[in-house]
Amino acid sequence: MGIVRGLAGINKQVDSQGGGGDRVKAKFFKLKDGESAKVRFLQELDADSAHYNADAGLGFLAIEHQAPGNFMKRCLCTIDEEGSCYGCEQFSAGEKGFRPKMKLYINALVTLADGTKEVQVLSQGMGPKSVTPALIEAAGDYGSISNREFKLKRTGAGQTDTSYTMIPQDKDEAPYDASQHELFDLEKVVFQVPSDQQAAYFAGSTTTPVAAGASTGDAEVW
Ligand SMILES: [Zn+2]
Repeated sequence: MGIVRGLAGINKQVDSQGGGGDRVKAKFFKLKDGESAKVRFLQELDADSAHYNADAGLGFLAIEHQAPGNFMKRCLCTIDEEGSCYGCEQFSAGEKGFRPKMKLYINALVTLADGTKEVQVLSQGMGPKSVTPALIEAAGDYGSISNREFKLKRTGAGQTDTSYTMIPQDKDEAPYDASQHELFDLEKVVFQVPSDQQAAYFAGSTTTPVAAGASTGDAEVW
């Protein structure tokens, strides 16, 4: 399954841990070592949340394969939708680097250092040092993640030394109107490559998938 929505599905996927269209270039949430930022999630993780907004939609977990050693080169797992998936085949053949990985994608309003606010996509894996497990837990405990801000802090640098903490702030007194913001279409933010093109994509030099059927001359970049 390439995308998992809803807490039941997310928790099931987390427990099991097994694991076309055009693309939108999103602004991704980033912190440096020692930095912190206030973040308001503009989407819920579950449609049953009292604060679920159908227009805003849900944040989701994507099941992705990454090229070993190059996290920029990645695409959604297609085994469930298309019955075949290059990453799954490589992993089955012993290429551990192609292990399916879960990654959270969710729109958030981020307060920048100068006090201005900007919609960004928060995307993190499921590791214990990431924000994702705490966010899933908060969604279950509070029944909502969009009705308060969270303070996110990064400590450390590098892939293995970096960890994030997430401190919930006070609950909103009045419901926050997320519809005043334009959100990124997350399904167009994730890399989707049809299974019959994945081998070429992972073997190629570019990290950006090119739309199916696009000629090389006027390649439509996702
Ligand atoms: Zn796969």
